[in-house]
Amino acid sequence: MKITRLAILGVGLIGGSLALALKEKGLVGEVVGYGRSQANIDEALALGIIDVAKPTAAEAVEGADMVVLAVPLASMRPLLADIRDALSDNVVLTDVGSAKQCWVDDVLSVWDGVWPSFAVPAHPIAGAERSGAAAAKADLYVQRKVVITAHQDSADDAIQRVTDMWQATGADVRHMSVHDHDQTFAWTSHLPHLLSFALVDMFSQRSDVARLFDYTAGGFRDFTRIAASDPEMWRDIVQLNSVAISEALVAYQAQVADYLALIEAKDWDTLSVHFARARDTRDHFLGK
Ligand code: NAD
Repeated sequence: MKITRLAILGVGLIGGSLALALKEKGLVGEVVGYGRSQANIDEALALGIIDVAKPTAAEAVEGADMVVLAVPLASMRPLLADIRDALSDNVVLTDVGSAKQCWVDDVLSVWDGVWPSFAVPAHPIAGAERSGAAAAKADLYVQRKVVITAHQDSADDAIQRVTDMWQATGADVRHMSVHDHDQTFAWTSHLPHLLSFALVDMFSQRSDVARLFDYTAGGFRDFTRIAASDPEMWRDIVQLNSVAISEALVAYQAQVADYLALIEAKDWDTLSVHFARARDTRDHFLGK
């Protein structure tokens, strides 16, 4: 696997880390970057994440055999429209977005309802609450999963090239349908982020917020680490996977309501049974 020219549109944590990983392995000839923020692009150049920066997305994808869209979800469609007529004949087009149906819809909308065989949706299950090129690291994907949600009209060769690219970063590549992906990550990632934001947001509106934070400890820090994530990225994820996320949130509301009912009924034994079931489930799947 060797990429001659890799175009990264949105050189942040996720796109930048991919470029660094491939560069470190010597698997990419040249990395061309395009981004919205000049300061971030300058940083990406200074850090050696990209070799060249281009002023437009269309120029960035010229001659590229691999194009990776790594911008927030709502920015994908306009970028796809900008690059559509500038892509080279041997290109593979992929993305890293945290929800997949929206990217499929974006591609279909820009390609007039006909899926281009060179397009392959993907989502690396790795990240951090830090953003931008400065947060990128070459080992971000080592032993992390990458989910490819190939379209039925994605070409086998294009799927293979995306698979090879991610495997070269050290990732464990999996395949899933778009529907299963968006359902699964609504529960495992989007819901926890929403809950973490909600807790800190609730604190932020209290007059005793300073005192509360003065007395937070490890548990609070662990639970709210992801509330430091980028608000624009998370607005887009919630907006563009809203149906599955709403279902998960309603289920969680019911769970919290159950706990409240047990507390009001002073049913401490049942509450303890629930806690034990939660602890045992976590131990079983994630280890102690
Ligand atoms: P980031 O903020 O670190 O990087 C995004 C980059 O895109 C920034 O440099 C920004 O300047 C640039 N950008 C934004 N809008 C743009 C536009 N219209 N045109 C060109 N450049 C633009 O964010 P990230 O964490 O790298 O996330 C990027 C994508 O990866 C998102 O779609 C997100 O859903 C997905 N993702 C994130 C994580 C995570 O944990 N951070 C994990 C998996 C997937």
